[in-house]
Amino acid sequence: MSVLPVYRWRLAPDGYATRRQLRAAGLRPGGQDVAAELQRPRRRRGPLVAYLYRIDHAKPVRPMTPGRWQALAKANVARRTCPECGCDVGYVIPTSLGMCVPCADAAQSAA
Ligand SMILES: [Zn+2]
Repeated sequence: MSVLPVYRWRLAPDGYATRRQLRAAGLRPGGQDVAAELQRPRRRRGPLVAYLYRIDHAKPVRPMTPGRWQALAKANVARRTCPECGCDVGYVIPTSLGMCVPCADAAQSAA
């Protein structure tokens, strides 16, 4: 198994949710593997760990209707489309970057 990305508590990237958060949104992990870990450091003990799942791989708890699938697909395409280069980059654009990773890299090296 590959090494999971680890994020600090409250600094989880967009597009990830814990099982409990998925459940609150009417979703379930849907057979996907854990995509990342959240760690909250604790004094004199090991960190508190939560497992994150990818929201775009999650499955609804209730069966989807064609209309709901369509709305979800539309929303996903919008969230994967980089406003800078206009490409569907295949992952949700991180709001912290506001653009896809290559665009953010280019913007950073240009600065
Ligand atoms: Zn881009």
